[in-house]
Amino acid sequence: MPSEFELIARYFTRPTQHTRLGVGDDGALVSPTPAMELVVSTDMLVAGTHFLPDADAEAVGWKSLAVNVSDLAAMGAQPRWALLAAALPDADELWIAAFAEGFFACAQTFGIDVIGGDTTRGPMNFCVTIFGEVPPGQALLRSGARPGDEIWVSGTPGRAALGLAHLQGRCQLGEAALADCLTALARPQPRLALGLGLRGLASAAIDVSDGLLADLGHILGSSKVSAALQFERLPDTAWRYCPDQALAQDCLLAGGDDYELVFTAPVGAHARVATLAQSLGLALTCIGQIADGAPGKLVLLDREQKPIAAHHHGFDHFA
Ligand code: ADP
Ligand code: MG
Repeated sequence: MPSEFELIARYFTRPTQHTRLGVGDDGALVSPTPAMELVVSTDMLVAGTHFLPDADAEAVGWKSLAVNVSDLAAMGAQPRWALLAAALPDADELWIAAFAEGFFACAQTFGIDVIGGDTTRGPMNFCVTIFGEVPPGQALLRSGARPGDEIWVSGTPGRAALGLAHLQGRCQLGEAALADCLTALARPQPRLALGLGLRGLASAAIDVSDGLLADLGHILGSSKVSAALQFERLPDTAWRYCPDQALAQDCLLAGGDDYELVFTAPVGAHARVATLAQSLGLALTCIGQIADGAPGKLVLLDREQKPIAAHHHGFDHFA
């Protein structure tokens, strides 16, 4: 069995692009770009909680870093460096090699240097700390939404949750829908280009890790505003994919793990957001509007602008 140090050398040490000193010493040395602000975030993936115990190792590796990239995307920051603290139950080298492939594929895709970490024996767990840069004052915060701003969502949320529901036997998806949903679950695509493009355009942003309504709720809470969502404007992919319409709605509104961005922008920026969507080749859908009602209050409106009482618990928190 390889030692801890052999594992680190074999699987977690790769050349860096913009780092003075990476893996191998007691600490890494980096030179932040002068006059940029550092954005720092950390996220943990625990076996059994964030991924199924039999999940594909390469996908777990990709996702461990991708969810961290997503946090920086939501801040409008360019990711630069990451650290990986890994607990592994045993040194299953095939598994670790596949994990590292996925992890470094994500690092390469987003221009991230992996500069250190920690490797210990224990119940499987991956904790990544990521550092990124943003021009001073340009970070996208949760607290900037203002009454009148429009609410936008990227992509087609609900797919990751539908994929999980299928794996758990709670629904039966068709072949094409299943493939799409399982990709969304296993290999989320952090919306980094979108986050960077929203600098100076969005008033607030968050990535959807816990569900559309719950995460939009965080913007409302931080910004001390309310919101109205137009039910029929929501991206309808989940409903088209899943015959069980109640489950589809639950996945769309309360399903986590999609890593799309929800953001707000002034009405005057509508055309610029639409242009950004086109240049990125990414659907950006305007789904509602911020208001000055009770802070945190979120209503879903039907075509006649009547409130909809959604029945699943994810929505009850906001009813
Ligand atoms: P120390 O005992 O001084 O904390 P370690 O023996 O834990 O150092 O790690 C040796 C070097 O390998 C350090 O530079 C550390 O950052 C790096 N490292 C350890 N585990 C990982 C990992 N999973 N991925 C990337 N780098 C790692
Ligand atoms: Mg250590």
